[in-house]
Amino acid sequence: MAKHIFVTGGVVSSLGKGLTSASIGMLLEQRGLRVRLQKFDPYINVDPGTMSPFQHGEVYVLDDGGETDLDLGHYERFTNAPLSRDCNFTTGKIYQSVIQKERKGEYLGKTVQVIPHVTDEIKGAIKKLVANDVDVVITEIGGTVGDIEGLPFLEAIRQFALDIGKANVLYIHLTLIPYLKAAGEMKTKPTQHSVERLRQIGIQPDILICRTEREISKDDIAKIALFCNVESRAVIEERDKEFSIYEVPVSLVDHDLDQIIVDKLQLKANPLDISAWREMLLKMKNPAHEVTVGVVGKYIRHNDAYKSIYESLDHAGIAEDARVVVRKIEAEEIEREGAERVLSGLDGVLVPGGFDYRGSSGKIDAIRYARERLVPFFGICLGLQCAVIEFARNVVYLTDANSTEFDRNTPHPVVVMLDEQFSVTDKGGTMRLGSYPCVMTEGSLAHQAYDATTAEERHRHRYEFNPQYRSQFEAHGLVVTGISPNGKLVEIVELRDHPWFLAVQCHPEFKSKPTKAHPLFQSFIHACVARHEGKKKVDGQPGYVVTDEAVAVS
Ligand code: GLN
Repeated sequence: MAKHIFVTGGVVSSLGKGLTSASIGMLLEQRGLRVRLQKFDPYINVDPGTMSPFQHGEVYVLDDGGETDLDLGHYERFTNAPLSRDCNFTTGKIYQSVIQKERKGEYLGKTVQVIPHVTDEIKGAIKKLVANDVDVVITEIGGTVGDIEGLPFLEAIRQFALDIGKANVLYIHLTLIPYLKAAGEMKTKPTQHSVERLRQIGIQPDILICRTEREISKDDIAKIALFCNVESRAVIEERDKEFSIYEVPVSLVDHDLDQIIVDKLQLKANPLDISAWREMLLKMKNPAHEVTVGVVGKYIRHNDAYKSIYESLDHAGIAEDARVVVRKIEAEEIEREGAERVLSGLDGVLVPGGFDYRGSSGKIDAIRYARERLVPFFGICLGLQCAVIEFARNVVYLTDANSTEFDRNTPHPVVVMLDEQFSVTDKGGTMRLGSYPCVMTEGSLAHQAYDATTAEERHRHRYEFNPQYRSQFEAHGLVVTGISPNGKLVEIVELRDHPWFLAVQCHPEFKSKPTKAHPLFQSFIHACVARHEGKKKVDGQPGYVVTDEAVAVS
């Protein structure tokens, strides 16, 4: 029988519940347990797919096409647990299902209510992850205790322990212990209040994880334990990590969290072995190289809008023994200041996915700069589409070439809507979503990077490279090196006579892990390091003027 861990949060949002849940999953996996992870989000959108990245950050895409919360990205990067649409439920998705059942008459004339019908639906969602090959299901409840919209979820997880027995359920509450400068003290009161709120609902936390900037004294731990009715060894400090989020699981081990969970749930577990993870951290801390990569996007101001891209660059850095410094560049800044000014000194340029016209001309200028200056360039999704537009306009001389997403009446529609999209009217969940295979050309950069001629990657788009222009582009040097198995959809393009210029229609950033960098990201960072080291060599030779061109030819 699977055991259940419920992770809630209190006092403030953004405490890192997702990271902590992922870390718990990783530690239990390293102890030989088979885990599944799941997140509940109390907002009413059915999924985050229709929400602006300015509001919600990145939309994380799964193999099955589920558009989910970005915390699922942490789950995948930290663990090997398989994820599906059933791993992310919002209030909207729960209610959608309840209302569908009501319309079908499945409630047999009853008045449909939050308790028991909505709470039953939530409990059903938790049970979807239970299977014979699962030891522990970790369910994270989004939001903060005390939020009105989170109440049905808390009520459901309270009932859950009653249904399957408290011995099979563990409640972990994440909270904040702020330091008040004026008083020169850590404050435990907000935590006491937050736990009080939980207990009013009927949930007594078994473990408290206390987020803090400073060390929590033994006295404060004892005080928290007493007031919150939690064993003092189960009051765990989780201090801010200055270096990397990948330190979180290690610091939790230092406070015995894995053992406390194993004890409390009476799990049969192996001794912990996180040596590979520790090695990865060590490598990360002592890199031989440093490169600077510019990420040029529209949603740069939101820290989490390109979360998986930033993580994948870090992973590639670990694999290539390099610290990757990311320069976050708003595409519109390039439109104002010019590519030369904004991009000089970079070792690589990456243009990630995006939507809508705004910022596109800045992205196109950035790509032109990378192409002409022989700076490694990696385009992802909209990044590929902008690379195609740039090439059309500036190399093939197709004046005003564009994507029909940006200009419906362009004389040269080099990027067009996918056929299947013409009949689509709803916005939610209707893009080309999820995992699709791609066949690569032998000898291409992509083939070399993957060391394979086929790969499966996740997608999220409505537009594609217009195949009518393929031969014209190829004659000028932009070649198609990855294509769908039926030969219809262009998945990868590469530029000949450039050190590293590759763009993909898929989102490889959703399949990179700290212990296993994605091959395309790794190959890109390899090229950035080569460029950087080349620059150093040229720098060292007297009389050399270091321009971007001189470096590139070195
Ligand atoms: N807006 C483009 C499309 O829908 C690109 C999407 C993306 O970058 N995810 O095809």
